[in-house]
Amino acid sequence: MDTSYFKKFYDKSRSERIAALQQAGILSEEDAIRLEDGLALSPEIADNMIENQLSTYELPYGVALNFLIDGKDYAVPMAIEEPSVIAAASSAAKTIAQAGGFATVVQKRLMIGQVALKKVPDSALAEQTIRAHEADILKRANEAHPSIVKRGGGARKVSVRIIPADAIGGTPEFVVVHLHVETLEAMGANIINTMMEGVSPYLQDLTGGEALMGILSNYPTDCLATATCRIPANALAKGELSGEEVRDRLIEAYQFAYVDPYRAVTHNKGIMNGIDAVVLASGNDWRAISAGAHAYASRSGQYRSLSSWKKAENGDLIGSLTLPLPVGAVGGSISFHPAAKMTRAILGDPSAAELEAVIVSVGLAQNFSAIKALVTEGIQKGHMGLQSRSLAISAGATGEQIEWVSEQLKKEKNMNLATAKALLEQLKA
Ligand code: NDP
Repeated sequence: MDTSYFKKFYDKSRSERIAALQQAGILSEEDAIRLEDGLALSPEIADNMIENQLSTYELPYGVALNFLIDGKDYAVPMAIEEPSVIAAASSAAKTIAQAGGFATVVQKRLMIGQVALKKVPDSALAEQTIRAHEADILKRANEAHPSIVKRGGGARKVSVRIIPADAIGGTPEFVVVHLHVETLEAMGANIINTMMEGVSPYLQDLTGGEALMGILSNYPTDCLATATCRIPANALAKGELSGEEVRDRLIEAYQFAYVDPYRAVTHNKGIMNGIDAVVLASGNDWRAISAGAHAYASRSGQYRSLSSWKKAENGDLIGSLTLPLPVGAVGGSISFHPAAKMTRAILGDPSAAELEAVIVSVGLAQNFSAIKALVTEGIQKGHMGLQSRSLAISAGATGEQIEWVSEQLKKEKNMNLATAKALLEQLKA
Protein backbone atom coordinates (compact mmCIF):
# COMPACT_ATOMS: atom_id res chain seq x y z
CA MET A 1 0.00 0.00 0.00
CA ASP A 2 1.43 3.38 -1.00
CA THR A 3 0.14 5.73 1.71
CA SER A 4 1.70 8.81 0.10
CA TYR A 5 -1.58 9.29 -1.81
CA PHE A 6 -3.43 9.89 1.47
CA LYS A 7 -2.01 13.35 2.22
CA LYS A 8 -4.86 15.75 3.10
CA PHE A 9 -7.32 12.93 2.43
CA TYR A 10 -9.91 14.80 4.50
CA ASP A 11 -9.76 17.81 2.17
CA LYS A 12 -10.23 15.78 -1.02
CA SER A 13 -13.58 15.37 -2.78
CA ARG A 14 -15.27 11.96 -2.60
CA SER A 15 -14.07 11.11 -6.11
CA GLU A 16 -10.52 12.19 -5.28
CA ARG A 17 -10.56 9.96 -2.19
CA ILE A 18 -11.68 6.98 -4.25
CA ALA A 19 -8.94 7.75 -6.79
CA ALA A 20 -6.37 7.97 -3.97
CA LEU A 21 -7.40 4.54 -2.69
CA GLN A 22 -7.02 3.19 -6.22
CA GLN A 23 -3.61 4.84 -6.70
CA ALA A 24 -2.47 3.48 -3.33
CA GLY A 25 -3.17 -0.01 -4.66
CA ILE A 26 -6.11 -0.70 -2.31
CA LEU A 27 -8.93 -0.62 -4.85
CA SER A 28 -9.12 -2.26 -8.25
CA GLU A 29 -10.55 -0.18 -11.10
CA GLU A 30 -13.76 -2.23 -10.90
CA ASP A 31 -14.12 -1.64 -7.16
CA ALA A 32 -13.40 2.06 -7.61
CA ILE A 33 -16.30 2.29 -10.09
CA ARG A 34 -18.56 0.36 -7.69
CA LEU A 35 -17.65 2.70 -4.86
CA GLU A 36 -18.21 5.76 -7.06
CA ASP A 37 -21.67 4.36 -7.93
CA GLY A 38 -22.61 4.16 -4.24
CA LEU A 39 -22.82 0.50 -3.05
CA ALA A 40 -26.63 0.53 -3.04
CA LEU A 41 -28.43 -2.58 -1.86
CA SER A 42 -30.77 -3.69 -4.64
CA PRO A 43 -34.51 -3.73 -3.80
CA GLU A 44 -34.57 -7.44 -4.65
CA ILE A 45 -31.79 -8.34 -2.20
CA ALA A 46 -33.22 -6.07 0.51
CA ASP A 47 -36.64 -7.65 0.11
CA ASN A 48 -35.11 -11.09 0.59
CA MET A 49 -33.06 -10.10 3.65
CA ILE A 50 -35.84 -9.16 6.09
CA GLU A 51 -39.58 -9.44 6.50
CA ASN A 52 -42.04 -6.63 5.64
CA GLN A 53 -39.24 -4.72 3.89
CA LEU A 54 -40.13 -1.21 2.75
CA SER A 55 -36.90 0.54 1.92
CA THR A 56 -33.24 0.66 2.87
CA TYR A 57 -31.73 2.79 5.64
CA GLU A 58 -28.45 4.35 4.60
CA LEU A 59 -25.40 5.33 6.65
CA PRO A 60 -22.26 7.14 5.53
CA TYR A 61 -19.43 4.74 4.66
CA GLY A 62 -15.87 6.03 5.00
CA VAL A 63 -12.35 4.94 5.66
CA ALA A 64 -10.04 5.45 8.66
CA LEU A 65 -6.39 5.81 7.68
CA ASN A 66 -2.91 5.31 9.16
CA PHE A 67 -3.47 1.91 10.77
CA LEU A 68 -0.27 -0.11 11.15
CA ILE A 69 -1.26 -3.48 12.61
CA ASP A 70 1.23 -6.30 13.14
CA GLY A 71 3.55 -4.61 10.66
CA LYS A 72 0.93 -4.22 7.90
CA ASP A 73 -0.73 -0.99 6.71
CA TYR A 74 -4.52 -0.83 6.60
CA ALA A 75 -7.16 1.62 5.48
CA VAL A 76 -10.18 0.59 7.56
CA PRO A 77 -13.76 1.00 6.28
CA MET A 78 -16.34 2.22 8.78
CA ALA A 79 -20.12 2.67 8.51
CA ILE A 80 -21.35 5.23 11.04
CA GLU A 81 -23.68 8.19 11.45
CA GLU A 82 -21.63 9.99 14.13
CA PRO A 83 -19.25 12.76 13.06
CA SER A 84 -15.66 12.72 14.35
CA VAL A 85 -15.33 8.94 14.85
CA ILE A 86 -13.33 8.38 11.65
CA ALA A 87 -11.23 11.51 12.20
CA ALA A 88 -10.45 10.43 15.79
CA ALA A 89 -9.53 6.87 14.75
CA SER A 90 -7.25 8.12 11.96
CA SER A 91 -5.52 10.63 14.20
CA ALA A 92 -4.89 8.08 16.98
CA ALA A 93 -3.72 5.49 14.46
CA LYS A 94 -1.19 8.02 13.11
CA THR A 95 0.35 8.63 16.55
CA ILE A 96 0.40 4.89 17.27
CA ALA A 97 1.87 4.02 13.83
CA GLN A 98 4.71 6.50 14.44
CA ALA A 99 5.39 4.60 17.68
CA GLY A 100 5.53 1.20 15.94
CA GLY A 101 1.83 0.41 15.46
CA PHE A 102 -0.51 -2.10 17.05
CA ALA A 103 0.46 -5.63 18.06
CA THR A 104 -2.40 -8.09 18.28
CA VAL A 105 -3.10 -11.56 19.65
CA VAL A 106 -6.14 -13.47 18.43
CA GLN A 107 -7.18 -16.61 20.35
CA LYS A 108 -8.12 -19.82 18.63
CA ARG A 109 -11.69 -19.13 17.58
CA LEU A 110 -13.91 -21.38 19.70
CA MET A 111 -17.60 -20.41 19.89
CA ILE A 112 -19.97 -21.58 22.60
CA GLY A 113 -23.41 -23.18 22.33
CA GLN A 114 -25.61 -23.93 25.33
CA VAL A 115 -28.31 -26.42 26.23
CA ALA A 116 -30.15 -25.49 29.43
CA LEU A 117 -31.62 -28.50 31.26
CA LYS A 118 -34.24 -28.08 33.98
CA LYS A 119 -35.83 -30.55 36.39
CA VAL A 120 -32.64 -32.65 36.45
CA PRO A 121 -33.19 -35.18 39.29
CA ASP A 122 -29.54 -35.32 40.42
CA SER A 123 -27.38 -32.54 39.00
CA ALA A 124 -24.05 -33.85 40.39
CA LEU A 125 -24.69 -37.26 38.82
CA ALA A 126 -25.84 -35.56 35.59
CA GLU A 127 -22.56 -33.63 35.42
CA GLN A 128 -20.56 -36.85 35.88
CA THR A 129 -22.62 -38.66 33.23
CA ILE A 130 -22.22 -35.82 30.73
CA ARG A 131 -18.45 -35.76 31.26
CA ALA A 132 -18.28 -39.54 30.82
CA HIS A 133 -20.17 -39.25 27.52
CA GLU A 134 -18.24 -36.27 26.12
CA ALA A 135 -17.05 -38.17 23.03
CA ASP A 136 -20.62 -39.30 22.20
CA ILE A 137 -21.98 -35.78 22.64
CA LEU A 138 -19.29 -34.33 20.36
CA LYS A 139 -19.97 -37.04 17.76
CA ARG A 140 -23.70 -36.29 17.73
CA ALA A 141 -23.04 -32.54 17.51
CA ASN A 142 -20.71 -33.03 14.56
CA GLU A 143 -23.18 -35.38 12.86
CA ALA A 144 -25.78 -32.61 13.09
CA HIS A 145 -23.53 -30.29 10.98
CA PRO A 146 -21.16 -32.51 8.99
CA SER A 147 -20.06 -29.83 6.50
CA ILE A 148 -18.12 -27.83 9.13
CA VAL A 149 -16.30 -31.03 10.11
CA LYS A 150 -15.36 -31.61 6.46
CA ARG A 151 -13.89 -28.12 6.40
CA GLY A 152 -11.69 -28.95 9.40
CA GLY A 153 -13.82 -27.50 12.20
CA GLY A 154 -16.50 -28.88 14.50
CA ALA A 155 -17.38 -29.41 18.16
CA ARG A 156 -14.21 -29.78 20.26
CA LYS A 157 -15.10 -29.84 23.94
CA VAL A 158 -18.03 -30.20 26.37
CA SER A 159 -18.28 -28.38 29.69
CA VAL A 160 -21.00 -28.33 32.35
CA ARG A 161 -22.15 -25.56 34.66
CA ILE A 162 -24.62 -26.12 37.47
CA ILE A 163 -26.49 -22.92 38.25
CA PRO A 164 -28.17 -23.31 41.64
CA ALA A 165 -31.77 -22.35 42.32
CA ASP A 166 -32.07 -18.75 43.43
CA ALA A 167 -34.62 -18.17 46.17
CA ILE A 168 -34.61 -14.38 45.74
CA GLY A 169 -35.08 -14.54 41.98
CA GLY A 170 -37.43 -17.51 42.33
CA THR A 171 -35.45 -19.38 39.65
CA PRO A 172 -34.98 -23.17 39.54
CA GLU A 173 -31.67 -25.02 39.27
CA PHE A 174 -30.31 -25.31 35.72
CA VAL A 175 -27.75 -27.76 34.44
CA VAL A 176 -26.14 -25.97 31.51
CA VAL A 177 -24.14 -27.90 28.96
CA HIS A 178 -21.69 -25.96 26.80
CA LEU A 179 -20.32 -27.14 23.48
CA HIS A 180 -17.12 -25.40 22.38
CA VAL A 181 -17.13 -25.33 18.61
CA GLU A 182 -14.55 -24.36 16.03
CA THR A 183 -16.55 -22.57 13.36
CA LEU A 184 -13.49 -21.61 11.26
CA GLU A 185 -14.21 -18.57 9.07
CA ALA A 186 -17.88 -18.27 10.13
CA MET A 187 -19.35 -16.56 13.20
CA GLY A 188 -21.23 -19.81 13.44
CA ALA A 189 -24.69 -18.95 14.79
CA ASN A 190 -26.44 -21.33 12.44
CA ILE A 191 -23.85 -24.10 12.80
CA ILE A 192 -24.09 -23.96 16.59
CA ASN A 193 -27.86 -23.63 16.79
CA THR A 194 -28.17 -26.73 14.59
CA MET A 195 -25.70 -28.62 16.80
CA MET A 196 -27.38 -27.63 20.06
CA GLU A 197 -30.80 -28.68 18.84
CA GLY A 198 -29.15 -31.88 17.56
CA VAL A 199 -27.71 -32.88 20.96
CA SER A 200 -30.64 -31.74 23.16
CA PRO A 201 -32.62 -35.05 23.07
CA TYR A 202 -29.48 -37.04 23.92
CA LEU A 203 -28.68 -34.73 26.86
CA GLN A 204 -32.24 -35.21 28.13
CA ASP A 205 -31.77 -39.01 27.93
CA LEU A 206 -28.42 -38.83 29.72
CA THR A 207 -29.60 -36.61 32.59
CA GLY A 208 -33.30 -37.35 32.97
CA GLY A 209 -33.84 -33.58 32.74
CA GLU A 210 -35.86 -31.48 30.32
CA ALA A 211 -34.14 -29.29 27.73
CA LEU A 212 -35.45 -25.74 27.89
CA MET A 213 -33.49 -24.49 24.90
CA GLY A 214 -30.39 -25.09 22.80
CA ILE A 215 -28.74 -21.94 21.39
CA LEU A 216 -25.53 -20.09 20.62
CA SER A 217 -24.11 -17.94 23.43
CA ASN A 218 -23.10 -14.46 22.36
CA TYR A 219 -20.50 -14.49 25.14
CA PRO A 220 -17.66 -16.45 23.49
CA THR A 221 -14.98 -16.27 26.17
CA ASP A 222 -12.70 -18.50 24.07
CA CYS A 223 -12.76 -16.09 21.13
CA LEU A 224 -10.84 -13.12 22.51
CA ALA A 225 -8.82 -10.59 20.56
CA THR A 226 -6.24 -8.26 22.11
CA ALA A 227 -4.52 -5.19 20.69
CA THR A 228 -1.67 -3.39 22.44
CA CYS A 229 0.29 -0.28 21.63
CA ARG A 230 3.26 1.47 23.20
CA ILE A 231 3.74 5.22 22.81
CA PRO A 232 6.70 7.26 24.04
CA ALA A 233 5.61 9.99 26.46
CA ASN A 234 7.21 12.72 24.32
CA ALA A 235 4.70 11.93 21.53
CA LEU A 236 1.82 12.85 23.83
CA ALA A 237 2.53 16.52 24.67
CA LYS A 238 -0.48 18.75 24.03
CA GLY A 239 -0.69 22.54 24.46
CA GLU A 240 0.57 23.48 27.92
CA LEU A 241 0.74 19.86 29.04
CA SER A 242 3.98 17.88 28.80
CA GLY A 243 4.00 14.34 27.36
CA GLU A 244 4.46 12.90 30.87
CA GLU A 245 1.50 14.88 32.19
CA VAL A 246 -0.74 13.74 29.33
CA ARG A 247 0.42 10.12 29.82
CA ASP A 248 -0.39 10.25 33.53
CA ARG A 249 -3.79 11.85 32.89
CA LEU A 250 -4.59 9.15 30.28
CA ILE A 251 -3.76 6.48 32.87
CA GLU A 252 -5.99 8.23 35.41
CA ALA A 253 -8.79 8.35 32.84
CA TYR A 254 -8.53 4.57 32.54
CA GLN A 255 -8.40 4.18 36.34
CA PHE A 256 -11.58 6.27 36.66
CA ALA A 257 -13.34 4.02 34.11
CA TYR A 258 -12.02 0.92 35.89
CA VAL A 259 -13.62 1.87 39.21
CA ASP A 260 -16.75 3.79 38.17
CA PRO A 261 -19.43 2.04 36.06
CA TYR A 262 -21.03 5.40 35.18
CA ARG A 263 -17.78 6.40 33.48
CA ALA A 264 -16.97 2.88 32.23
CA VAL A 265 -20.14 2.74 30.13
CA THR A 266 -19.22 5.96 28.33
CA HIS A 267 -15.55 4.94 28.05
CA ASN A 268 -16.61 1.64 26.46
CA LYS A 269 -19.20 3.36 24.26
CA GLY A 270 -16.30 5.31 22.78
CA ILE A 271 -14.46 2.04 22.09
CA MET A 272 -17.61 0.60 20.49
CA ASN A 273 -17.90 3.71 18.26
CA GLY A 274 -14.99 2.25 16.31
CA ILE A 275 -15.68 -1.43 16.79
CA ASP A 276 -19.35 -1.35 15.78
CA ALA A 277 -18.59 0.84 12.76
CA VAL A 278 -16.11 -1.68 11.35
CA VAL A 279 -18.24 -4.67 12.36
CA LEU A 280 -21.19 -3.11 10.54
CA ALA A 281 -19.11 -2.18 7.48
CA SER A 282 -17.87 -5.77 7.32
CA GLY A 283 -21.41 -7.19 7.21
CA ASN A 284 -21.10 -8.77 10.65
CA ASP A 285 -23.66 -8.80 13.46
CA TRP A 286 -22.88 -5.74 15.57
CA ARG A 287 -25.56 -6.55 18.17
CA ALA A 288 -23.77 -9.83 18.87
CA ILE A 289 -20.40 -8.09 19.23
CA SER A 290 -21.79 -5.30 21.44
CA ALA A 291 -23.63 -7.72 23.74
CA GLY A 292 -20.51 -9.88 24.17
CA ALA A 293 -18.24 -6.87 24.73
CA HIS A 294 -20.40 -5.41 27.50
CA ALA A 295 -20.71 -8.81 29.20
CA TYR A 296 -16.90 -9.12 29.07
CA ALA A 297 -16.60 -5.67 30.66
CA SER A 298 -18.59 -7.08 33.61
CA ARG A 299 -16.57 -10.29 34.03
CA SER A 300 -15.22 -9.26 37.47
CA GLY A 301 -18.75 -8.73 38.78
CA GLN A 302 -18.56 -4.98 38.16
CA TYR A 303 -18.88 -3.22 34.82
CA ARG A 304 -15.40 -1.82 34.07
CA SER A 305 -13.24 -0.32 31.34
CA LEU A 306 -12.56 -2.75 28.48
CA SER A 307 -9.19 -1.12 27.82
CA SER A 308 -6.28 -0.52 30.17
CA TRP A 309 -3.51 2.11 30.09
CA LYS A 310 -0.30 1.76 32.08
CA LYS A 311 3.15 3.33 32.41
CA ALA A 312 6.07 1.20 31.21
CA GLU A 313 9.30 1.11 33.22
CA ASN A 314 10.96 3.48 30.73
CA GLY A 315 8.03 5.91 30.94
CA ASP A 316 6.24 4.90 27.72
CA LEU A 317 2.46 4.64 27.71
CA ILE A 318 1.17 1.11 27.14
CA GLY A 319 -2.43 0.59 26.03
CA SER A 320 -4.27 -2.68 25.76
CA LEU A 321 -7.76 -3.74 24.74
CA THR A 322 -9.24 -7.25 24.93
CA LEU A 323 -12.77 -8.34 24.06
CA PRO A 324 -14.61 -11.27 22.48
CA LEU A 325 -14.80 -10.75 18.71
CA PRO A 326 -16.73 -13.59 17.08
CA VAL A 327 -16.81 -12.07 13.60
CA GLY A 328 -17.01 -14.02 10.37
CA ALA A 329 -15.28 -13.76 7.01
CA VAL A 330 -18.18 -15.74 5.51
CA GLY A 331 -21.86 -16.16 6.34
CA GLY A 332 -24.87 -13.92 6.88
CA SER A 333 -24.90 -11.07 4.37
CA ILE A 334 -21.09 -10.85 4.09
CA SER A 335 -20.85 -12.38 0.64
CA PHE A 336 -23.69 -10.47 -1.02
CA HIS A 337 -24.09 -7.06 0.66
CA PRO A 338 -22.29 -4.62 -1.69
CA ALA A 339 -20.76 -2.57 1.17
CA ALA A 340 -19.64 -5.69 3.06
CA LYS A 341 -18.00 -6.96 -0.13
CA MET A 342 -16.28 -3.60 -0.59
CA THR A 343 -15.00 -3.70 2.99
CA ARG A 344 -13.45 -7.10 2.36
CA ALA A 345 -11.82 -5.75 -0.81
CA ILE A 346 -10.41 -2.66 0.95
CA LEU A 347 -9.05 -4.79 3.81
CA GLY A 348 -7.43 -7.23 1.35
CA ASP A 349 -9.84 -10.15 1.83
CA PRO A 350 -8.91 -10.82 5.47
CA SER A 351 -9.47 -14.08 7.34
CA ALA A 352 -11.84 -13.88 10.32
CA ALA A 353 -8.83 -13.76 12.68
CA GLU A 354 -7.21 -10.91 10.71
CA LEU A 355 -10.51 -9.02 10.77
CA GLU A 356 -10.56 -9.44 14.57
CA ALA A 357 -7.04 -7.98 14.74
CA VAL A 358 -8.13 -4.94 12.72
CA ILE A 359 -11.32 -4.38 14.71
CA VAL A 360 -9.71 -4.61 18.15
CA SER A 361 -6.99 -2.18 17.01
CA VAL A 362 -9.61 0.31 15.86
CA GLY A 363 -11.28 0.02 19.28
CA LEU A 364 -8.00 0.83 21.04
CA ALA A 365 -7.30 3.76 18.69
CA GLN A 366 -10.77 5.17 19.30
CA ASN A 367 -10.30 4.90 23.05
CA PHE A 368 -6.90 6.60 22.90
CA SER A 369 -8.30 9.52 20.92
CA ALA A 370 -11.34 9.98 23.14
CA ILE A 371 -9.56 9.91 26.51
CA LYS A 372 -6.65 12.00 25.22
CA ALA A 373 -9.09 14.70 24.12
CA LEU A 374 -10.99 14.44 27.41
CA VAL A 375 -7.93 14.88 29.61
CA THR A 376 -6.39 17.66 27.52
CA GLU A 377 -8.50 20.13 25.54
CA GLY A 378 -11.89 18.47 26.24
CA ILE A 379 -13.93 16.61 23.68
CA GLN A 380 -16.25 19.35 22.51
CA LYS A 381 -13.68 21.39 20.57
CA GLY A 382 -12.96 18.70 17.99
CA HIS A 383 -16.38 17.09 18.16
CA MET A 384 -18.42 20.24 17.67
CA GLY A 385 -16.10 21.34 14.86
CA LEU A 386 -17.26 18.28 12.93
CA GLN A 387 -20.79 18.41 14.36
CA SER A 388 -21.25 21.84 12.77
CA ARG A 389 -21.92 20.25 9.39
CA SER A 390 -24.69 18.06 10.84
CA LEU A 391 -26.19 21.13 12.52
CA ALA A 392 -26.07 23.06 9.25
CA ILE A 393 -27.89 20.21 7.45
CA SER A 394 -30.44 19.90 10.29
CA ALA A 395 -31.11 23.65 9.95
CA GLY A 396 -32.00 23.11 6.28
CA ALA A 397 -28.75 24.15 4.56
CA THR A 398 -28.05 22.53 1.20
CA GLY A 399 -25.15 22.59 -1.29
CA GLU A 400 -22.64 25.37 -0.66
CA GLN A 401 -24.78 26.71 2.20
CA ILE A 402 -23.62 23.74 4.34
CA GLU A 403 -19.96 24.78 4.23
CA TRP A 404 -20.77 28.45 4.88
CA VAL A 405 -23.15 27.84 7.81
CA SER A 406 -20.76 25.25 9.26
CA GLU A 407 -17.77 27.62 9.12
CA GLN A 408 -19.77 30.52 10.65
CA LEU A 409 -21.09 28.21 13.38
CA LYS A 410 -17.56 27.36 14.48
CA LYS A 411 -16.99 31.05 15.21
CA GLU A 412 -20.19 31.40 17.27
CA LYS A 413 -20.32 31.18 21.06
CA ASN A 414 -23.45 29.01 21.02
CA MET A 415 -23.03 26.29 18.43
CA ASN A 416 -26.55 24.90 18.32
CA LEU A 417 -29.48 24.38 15.98
CA ALA A 418 -31.02 27.78 16.71
CA THR A 419 -27.77 29.53 15.78
CA ALA A 420 -27.48 27.40 12.62
CA LYS A 421 -31.04 28.38 11.60
CA ALA A 422 -30.34 32.06 12.28
CA LEU A 423 -27.16 31.90 10.18
CA LEU A 424 -29.02 30.23 7.33
CA GLU A 425 -31.72 32.93 7.43
CA GLN A 426 -28.95 35.55 7.36
CA LEU A 427 -27.38 33.86 4.32
CA LYS A 428 -30.69 33.65 2.48
CA ALA A 429 -31.63 37.28 3.26
P1 NDP B 1 -24.13 -18.77 7.83
O1 NDP B 1 -24.88 -19.94 8.29
O2 NDP B 1 -24.77 -17.84 6.87
O3 NDP B 1 -22.72 -19.20 7.22
C1 NDP B 1 -21.94 -20.17 7.80
C2 NDP B 1 -21.76 -21.26 6.77
O4 NDP B 1 -20.85 -20.83 5.76
C3 NDP B 1 -21.15 -22.50 7.33
O5 NDP B 1 -22.11 -23.30 7.96
C4 NDP B 1 -20.59 -23.16 6.08
O6 NDP B 1 -21.63 -23.91 5.48
C5 NDP B 1 -20.29 -21.97 5.17
N1 NDP B 1 -18.84 -21.77 4.99
C6 NDP B 1 -18.22 -21.55 3.81
N2 NDP B 1 -16.90 -21.42 3.97
C7 NDP B 1 -16.65 -21.56 5.30
C8 NDP B 1 -15.48 -21.52 6.09
N3 NDP B 1 -14.26 -21.33 5.55
N4 NDP B 1 -15.59 -21.67 7.43
C9 NDP B 1 -16.79 -21.84 8.01
N5 NDP B 1 -17.94 -21.91 7.29
C10 NDP B 1 -17.89 -21.77 5.95
O7 NDP B 1 -23.64 -17.83 9.01
P2 NDP B 1 -23.31 -18.12 10.52
O8 NDP B 1 -23.68 -19.47 10.97
O9 NDP B 1 -21.90 -17.69 10.75
O10 NDP B 1 -24.28 -17.12 11.25
C11 NDP B 1 -24.12 -15.75 11.13
C12 NDP B 1 -25.48 -15.09 10.99
O11 NDP B 1 -26.38 -15.60 11.97
C13 NDP B 1 -25.40 -13.62 11.20
O12 NDP B 1 -26.04 -13.01 10.12
C14 NDP B 1 -26.22 -13.41 12.48
O13 NDP B 1 -26.88 -12.17 12.45
C15 NDP B 1 -27.17 -14.55 12.49
N6 NDP B 1 -27.68 -15.01 13.78
C16 NDP B 1 -27.15 -14.59 14.97
C17 NDP B 1 -27.64 -15.08 16.15
C18 NDP B 1 -27.01 -14.63 17.42
O14 NDP B 1 -26.04 -13.90 17.39
N7 NDP B 1 -27.50 -15.02 18.59
C19 NDP B 1 -28.74 -16.05 16.19
C20 NDP B 1 -29.18 -16.45 14.89
C21 NDP B 1 -28.68 -15.94 13.74
P3 NDP B 1 -21.35 -25.21 4.61
O15 NDP B 1 -20.16 -25.89 5.24
O16 NDP B 1 -22.59 -26.00 4.75
O17 NDP B 1 -21.07 -24.70 3.25
